[in-house]
Formats: sequence, structure tokens, C-alpha cells
Amino acid sequence: MAKRLEGTDKNVWVEFSQMTLEHKALNLGQGFPDFFPPDHVRRALVETANSTNQMLYQYTRSYGHPRLVKALSDTFSPMYDRQINQNTEAVVTIGAYGALFGAVQGLVNPEDEVIIIEPYFDCYEPMVKVAGGTPVFIPLRSTKNSSPLSSADWKLDPVELESKFNEKTKAIFLNNPNNPVGKVYSMEELNMVADLCKKYDVLVFADEVYEWLIYHPNQHIKIATLPDMWERTLTIGSAGKTFSVTGWKLGWALGPENLIHALQCVHQNCAYTCPTPTQEAVARAFEYELSLMGKPECYYNSLPAQLNPKRDRTAKFISEVGMVPIIPEGGYFMVADFSQIDVDLGSEDDESKDYRFVKWLMREKKLAGIPTSAFYSQQNKHLAENLIRFCFSKEDSTLEKAEEIIKKWK
Ligand code: PMP
Ligand code: GLN
Repeated sequence: MAKRLEGTDKNVWVEFSQMTLEHKALNLGQGFPDFFPPDHVRRALVETANSTNQMLYQYTRSYGHPRLVKALSDTFSPMYDRQINQNTEAVVTIGAYGALFGAVQGLVNPEDEVIIIEPYFDCYEPMVKVAGGTPVFIPLRSTKNSSPLSSADWKLDPVELESKFNEKTKAIFLNNPNNPVGKVYSMEELNMVADLCKKYDVLVFADEVYEWLIYHPNQHIKIATLPDMWERTLTIGSAGKTFSVTGWKLGWALGPENLIHALQCVHQNCAYTCPTPTQEAVARAFEYELSLMGKPECYYNSLPAQLNPKRDRTAKFISEVGMVPIIPEGGYFMVADFSQIDVDLGSEDDESKDYRFVKWLMREKKLAGIPTSAFYSQQNKHLAENLIRFCFSKEDSTLEKAEEIIKKWK
């Protein structure tokens, strides 16, 4: 194995997805919906598969299928209040993962520092290290410890944040809404980050894969729309999250030409292009939703409306066994404190308490979650030793099964 891959062999998704299958546990772990995507999205792929257009069976344009980059531009340009050039300011990638990888490989030099806000989507850290960069961590601090808890209680300390910026800082990851805790950043918080980025000449890798999953009364603000931020921000999205088709593995990045060019260089030599049929289908899905934009039946509104009661229901049933949920403002995950649950988890030195609890829950109760310390750097894993993450983007029948598990347990 190449030296640069040292330390990347463990992966929480690989480990816990396998374990969930082995234990036949109810899966509230890895983040994916267990309900079908909208009919029009499924139809789009069926129609594409049956198409008489021979070109849809072959490679398409490297940086993004023309119909898809146009749909991205048509959908997102109004939100940025600028015309996004579909050829030079957008790139379509293999999932949001592909865009994150392209951003880091394409823009981070050895010796560069990259700020990562904890808890963070776990791949940020190995991506930075493999590129030769140095991750610099700053945890969101939870400012409240009595119920009810909200992701809004998790805040960046302004002084601590500025202390992480210096002349070596190349970029900061801003995951909004955050996975796993569900924080949706306020205008004030985004301005604070943006001001520091401008002061220290730092890029933003804005991971907004859950941008539509915002619960009332919260509002999602794109950091790239703040004054002078378009120029220094790559905004990353995911068709998997947008249309509930995580298996389609299509993502994108939007941003200024010079930054997108770096991603295009990585992409053209790594994947060259993404599969044509799924790009065509996602393009049609965007076109369909564009005609419904702003209406309740638009999937960008109906999906969070459908998830909101699932969020509240999950909070309720996990509370019944003494877990303390942190109510997310966005996304489809819920982090909960399990420290009040009285169970002997042993004390294997090499494994943190949350890993032991999640494994116990899977083994003994047949309920799968994800240990939250997987979203922390080695030095800060202790901050999450009592936290488990659940995914609530599930059929009501799945949540009902979870409730039955809880009922038997009580
Ligand atoms: N960023 C975050 C915050 C995520 O939770 C995920 C997982 N969906 C990704 C990026 C990767 O998305 P994709 O499945 O489109 O590669
Ligand atoms: N983003 C999803 C999650 O956080 C899935 C990640 C993955 O499977 N790699 O659960």
C-alpha cells in the first residue's frame, strides 16, 4: 500500500454496514432513505434506459452531461443571484465524495493547512492527509447541557476559530447542514467564517448535500452568496441526498472558473465522466422540480415536510429509554446522549465508549446506529464518547419497528 494511505484503513461505513447485516439489525445507521424516490425520478431513469437516442448509451461530456449542467445552472443561478456558467462554473462528479476529493486534490498543496469543524463528515480528514495537507480541527462547542437540546446549541467560539487561521491555511470545510449533528448555520455565524476567510485569504469547501432538508423555522443560507464569497467558495451538492437516490452516486460542485478548473483537472483524469444514464435522469428530475419551485409539492419542500414528523417521532422514542436527543435543525440525522443508560459496556482500551455502546445496541437490541466519535479527530474523540447517531430518513413502518424494540427494552 502506498505510504500516503497510512491510517486510512478503517472506515466506519464499511465496518458498521457489514455489522448491521451480520446482526440483522434494524438499520438507523448509515444515512440513506429506505423509501422510494419520487415517481418522476424513477420514471426519468426508466425512460432514459429505454431511449432511442444512441448517445445516451455512451460517454458524455467529461465535466458533466450537457443537459445536467444546464439543469444545475437553471436551478441554482437564481439562488446565487448570478448566472452560473454551466460549462466553466460547474462540474459533475461521482457523488459529493467525488467533488470533495476533487476540491482537496485539486487545490490543497503539501504543507497547506485545512480547517475542519468537528463533528465532520469523516472523509474530510483522510482526503486532506492523502493530499499532503494538514487538517486543523476546531470543535463546535455544545453550550447547553439540559434538555431540550438542539443543534443550534452547538457553536463555534469566535476566538478559538480565528486562532486556527494563519498564512498556511488554504481552506475550511463548512458542512451546512452539518452531518452528524444537524446544525444549520445562522447568518451571523456564516459572516464570521466568511470574514476570516477574506482576512486570511482562505477558500471554503461548502458541503451542502443536505441543503433542502431544513426544519421550520430554520433557513439555509449559502455561504457563497455572502459578499465576495462566490470567488472563494466551492459549493458541493449530491443527487443522492436531493432526490433520495444515494445509490446513483452523482454529485456536483459549483463555483468560480479558476476553482472549478482544478476539479475538472482531477475529474478528467480520475473518472473522465460520470455514467450518462443517471446524469440524464437527474437532469430530468431537476427540470421537473424547477417547474414546481416554491410550491409545497416541490420535492425540495415536500421531503423536509415528510421528514419533520419522523424527526420528532425518533426523538420521542429514543427518549423513552433515557437517551437525550439533540434535535437537528437540518439534515436527516439525530445525535443522542446515551450516558444515562445503565449498561455494562466493559472497558476495552482500544475502543471508545460510543463504539462499544453502538455494538452492544446492535448485538443485544438489534438496532443499528453510528458511533459519533467517528466524526472527530483522534484528539477530540472523547467529546463524543457518549453520543450515538441515528438516521430518521426511514419509512414509518421502520420507525415503528424501532419503537417496538424500545417498548420491549423499557
Ligand atoms: N457530505 C456529507 C456531509 C454527507 O453526509 C455525504 C453522504 N451522503 C456526502 C458528502 C457524500 O455524498 P454522496 O453520497 O453524494 O457521495
Ligand atoms: N452520508 C451518509 C452518512 O453519513 C453515508 C456515508 C457513507 O456511506 N459513506 O451516513
